[in-house]
Amino acid sequence: MIVDLHTHSTASDGALAPAALLELARDEGVDVIAITDHDTLDAYAAIAATAPSGLQLVTGVELSTTWCGRGIHIVGLNVDPANPELGAGILQQQRARRDRARIIADRLARIGITDVLPAVEAIAGDSPVGRPHFAAHLVAAGHAKDRRHAFQKFLGPGKTGDVRDGWAALDEVIRWIVAAGGHAVLAHPGKYRMTTAKLRALLDDFVAAGGGAIEVVCGPQDPSLTARLAGIAADFGLAASTGSDFHDPANAWSRPGRFSPLPGGLKPVLDLW
Ligand code: MN
Ligand code: MN
Ligand code: MN
Repeated sequence: MIVDLHTHSTASDGALAPAALLELARDEGVDVIAITDHDTLDAYAAIAATAPSGLQLVTGVELSTTWCGRGIHIVGLNVDPANPELGAGILQQQRARRDRARIIADRLARIGITDVLPAVEAIAGDSPVGRPHFAAHLVAAGHAKDRRHAFQKFLGPGKTGDVRDGWAALDEVIRWIVAAGGHAVLAHPGKYRMTTAKLRALLDDFVAAGGGAIEVVCGPQDPSLTARLAGIAADFGLAASTGSDFHDPANAWSRPGRFSPLPGGLKPVLDLW
C-alpha cells in the first residue's frame, strides 16, 4: 500500500490543481493521499472531499512554525477542515505572511526600491507571497543579477528585507491540529540539518505539546537517514508517516508516492485514527 501524506496543490505553492493532483496520484499507484498545502485548507473546498475511485483522501495541512529561531514545519493530518480553532489559526498564519510581505516592501521602499508589493503579488499569483517572489522581482527589475544575489544583497540574514516571520509557536500549531481532531506530524526532519541532539530536543518539545508522529520517509532519501529517523520514532514512541512533499510534475525526482516503504516495526500514522 502506498501512503503519501504530504503533497501540495495550487492552493499553496504546488503546480497542480487539487483534482489534477489526485488524478496523478491515482495514476502513480497511490492508495492513500493527503493534500497538505502551506497554511491553508482551501484544496478541500475545491474538491469537496471527493477523491477519484481507488484513492482514499485524508485531510491535511502543513503549518509553519518557529522553534528556537528555526523554521519548522508541522503537518496536521485527519483534521476537521470546518474546525473553528484551526480555521482561526490558519487565518492568523495567513495574516502573518501578508504582514511580513508588507514590512519587507516598506523597508525596500525606504532604500529607494518602491512599489514592490503589487509586482511581487503578481509574480506569486495564487500562491502566498514569500521571499522567493521578492527575489524574482528584484532580479526582473534589475536590482540583482540573479535570485541568489537578491538574497545576498536584500533578503538574506541582516539585510534590509530580512524580516522576522510571525509564525505561531510550535505548541500553538499543535494545539490547533489536536483541537481539529487531527494528529501533528513533524515534517521532513532530515531537511533541518540538525544534529541528533538538537532533533531530540525538538522532539521533546513536540511530544510535550501533543505531537504524535514523525515523517520517517519524505521523498527519495538516503537509507541511512530513514534508519536514523526510524530509530528516533521508536525511541520517542511516535507513529511514522510517509510522504513525497510533491509540488510540481516538472521535478522528476519528486512524484506522488515515489519513496521507499516504511521500515518494519514502526506504527504507521494511519493507525492513529
Ligand atoms: Mn512548498
Ligand atoms: Mn515543508
Ligand atoms: Mn511540504
